[in-house]
Amino acid sequence: MVVRAGREFLAIPGPTTMPDEVLAAMHRPAADIYSQDMVELTAGLLGDLSKLFRTKGKSYIYIANGHGAWEAVLTNILSRGEKVLVLESGRFALGWGEAAARMGVHMEVLKGGWNRSVRPQDVEARLKADTNHEIKAILVVQIDTASSVVNDIPAISAAIKAAKHPALLAVDTVASLGCIPFDMDGWGVDVAMSASQKGLMTPPGLAFVAVNDRAREAHRKADMRTPYFDWTARDGQEHYQKYAGTPPVHLLFALRCALDLIAKEGLDNIFLRHRLLAETVRRAVGVWAQSNTIAFNVLDPTERSDTVTSILVSGTPTANELRTYCSQKCGVVLGTGIGALSGQAFRIAHMGHINAPMVLGTLSVVEVALHALGIPHGKGGMQAAIDYLGENVAA
Ligand SMILES: *Cc1c(COP(=O)(O)O)cnc(C)c1O
Repeated sequence: MVVRAGREFLAIPGPTTMPDEVLAAMHRPAADIYSQDMVELTAGLLGDLSKLFRTKGKSYIYIANGHGAWEAVLTNILSRGEKVLVLESGRFALGWGEAAARMGVHMEVLKGGWNRSVRPQDVEARLKADTNHEIKAILVVQIDTASSVVNDIPAISAAIKAAKHPALLAVDTVASLGCIPFDMDGWGVDVAMSASQKGLMTPPGLAFVAVNDRAREAHRKADMRTPYFDWTARDGQEHYQKYAGTPPVHLLFALRCALDLIAKEGLDNIFLRHRLLAETVRRAVGVWAQSNTIAFNVLDPTERSDTVTSILVSGTPTANELRTYCSQKCGVVLGTGIGALSGQAFRIAHMGHINAPMVLGTLSVVEVALHALGIPHGKGGMQAAIDYLGENVAA
């Protein structure tokens, strides 16, 4: 017996559920890419992206995923043989650093852990030891989607300043932009990147980079620049230069619609919604974790992200068996454990276009699976989740 007819619930950390309005916005004929409407669409999107990153600097749109945006940042600010410092807090900053290494940059990893956020004092100590200023850029993620850690970007930026080090601060916001606060200029971030398919509720295929004056200064000397990614080429007057060729027309209409939905709800409301729904997830997991079989991956509650939660399952049945039960029996697709957590964890995404029934429904199905598979767990997780929402969403 299965109980999975009806709409499938996607609870993976990207691509995320898209609003029907966003899907409908793409249902239109091909457009004249030289028309004034397209020029204005691009100008509006670039301006709104900079506002979303909270920078006076320019933004760029690439036809790429997050990996493409990583490469866009690296090619534009670095030269071969230079060094980057990667701040480990899971999988994704390492991935960014590995891309740099393959492009001819020296990568040094500041060891962290898979269950905790970057320690700003470690960053400060490492930078103080770099007396020749060999490190040119620091790569860090705001939320690591594998470990589900959230890093304190303002504290890391303050550590760089305390060390009086000139390295550029480059931040990956793929799993956080439009979900939790980000303040590029206010926090002293030099270059930030993101992608369309997570908090921004748009199909995969668009990547974003925002750049301040310091990053642009490094750009002038960078020798890894390539024709497609080059900011200077994209600053040209012609509309096609903004995309180094044909614009991704339909994805741009989707993004326009998503940004309008974000503006309509208001960023403060969106951040609060994410906090409330993330805490709802954590209340349920906290109860399940009263058995020793289930545990939060991130040890310190203040370092758990508001967009995704990684949950460890020890012994058998495994996390993957739980995921299989949820998808095949109940139509809820959970994220798999990746990297160091492969086979040992599952992930619940709570980012982007999500509401209470989606989160409560997903949690309920996980609890059904724990029961059906006989995985030991504390009883009453759903009740704790419901009580939390009932107490915190005022009548
Ligand atoms: C998903 C993700 C990426 C990679 O994005 P792709 O679009 O899959 O290339 C990079 N960084 C973080 C933090 C992510 O969550």
